Amino acid sequence: MISLLTVYREEEIMKSHLIKPFLDESYPVADYGQGIYLYDKTGKKYIDGSSGAVTANIGHGIPEIADAMKKQAEKVSFVYRSQFTSEPAEKLANKLKDWAPGDVNWTFFVNSGSEATETALKVAIQYWQEKGKPSKIKVLSRWMSYHGITLGSLSMSGHVGRRARFTPLLEDFPSVEPPYCFRCPFKQTHPQCGLMCADELERAILREGADHIAAFIAEPVIGASGGAIVPPPGYYERIKEICDKYDVLFIADEVMTGFGRTGKRFAIDHWAVVPDIIAVGKGLTGGYAPLAATIISDKVLAPVRQGSKIIMSGHTYSANPQATAVGLAVLNYVEKYNLTKRAEKTGDKLMSRLKNLKRHYPIIGDVRGKGLLTGVEFISNVFNHMPFSSEVSVSKKIISKCMDKGLLVYPASAGIEGKAGDAVLIAPPLTIIEEEINDLVTIFEESVKEVQSELQ
Ligand code: PLP
Repeated sequence: MISLLTVYREEEIMKSHLIKPFLDESYPVADYGQGIYLYDKTGKKYIDGSSGAVTANIGHGIPEIADAMKKQAEKVSFVYRSQFTSEPAEKLANKLKDWAPGDVNWTFFVNSGSEATETALKVAIQYWQEKGKPSKIKVLSRWMSYHGITLGSLSMSGHVGRRARFTPLLEDFPSVEPPYCFRCPFKQTHPQCGLMCADELERAILREGADHIAAFIAEPVIGASGGAIVPPPGYYERIKEICDKYDVLFIADEVMTGFGRTGKRFAIDHWAVVPDIIAVGKGLTGGYAPLAATIISDKVLAPVRQGSKIIMSGHTYSANPQATAVGLAVLNYVEKYNLTKRAEKTGDKLMSRLKNLKRHYPIIGDVRGKGLLTGVEFISNVFNHMPFSSEVSVSKKIISKCMDKGLLVYPASAGIEGKAGDAVLIAPPLTIIEEEINDLVTIFEESVKEVQSELQ
């Protein structure tokens, strides 16, 4: 029987001309946000337990960000980048020089994480052209990765589900297995494995021929396509060694992990490695404006400076004064309140609370992550870590229960990609305090408990 509620929902869906992620689902209407909380039009309160898509790093409704927006809007909101530069764009680029490690000093602004990784791809290819090696045009990456939705960035992404529809249009890029110790693709354990997952990069380069490889791109901590997977010790050091040996640039995709999220400025700072190019987005403005960037090392920019003198990329809104003023205010806020350090400390608390849940709920197979980027992977069998089949939709059920109870968490793929297994990301704003972590974990626990008993 069709209920009145279903009829109402369908009418509501048909009336709206906004294309939403799932066309036959209705979504609450956001009204306002304050700190780690979001409120919908009915007055319902939600803990923003994943900062949206791991974006709202400093929380919602912060007056000093609104002030910075207003001040810039009253001066000038738009200038075109080939006619003018602007004070906020210059200041933010200088700040990013201080935030980024080593000689990663030069910023090219874009508007989304996908554009940032796509620009990184183009810059890497251009670098080798300027150096007289035009055959180096491929960018290797890992299966179980997400670098964006535009065709170039999707070509680099090993996210099976997001690639599927466009595979014939994509470059044949992803190549190596992820450093996924919970389900090691090589059926090994660390450290006896000798980092086979890192060494696979060397084999991939040799297979393709180093003359064809411009760069290797990786998320330092794998986000939505793995559920906060942290590689084993020594992994990135080995990766960088291999990249250097074969003249392959290393691009760190910090779109999700940047700006304090993992308890360091950038997630790659957890290892003794300096990338050649860093892609950033999301936390750069904490969701207050669309802005992303590709940050380039002295080494990579030098041949462009001496050669063509132009980075062949850019968008109408690149280096937009309004968006960069927001980025500047957000990074000032992160610095003023020491949010990177706070993420490290509160992240430890969140992690130990979640690990404790794992002891009580057998469907929780793994809890992992760094700082305030944590992932929980679900399993159907504690002995062999068998994932749930996709039809069971465990994470979907848990996310939906959490939402009913006023907690937002983010879906992540895990297990056997595209076939079975799932995880969620728990990544609240870096401003979260201990009592709020308790509330978040309480709701998450209730939801896991209910879904687990429904599965029995
Ligand atoms: N890179 C990573 C690691 C991401 O997590 C994302 C988005 O989730 C992107 C790139 C793409 O960013 P955007 O959605 O802003 O295009």
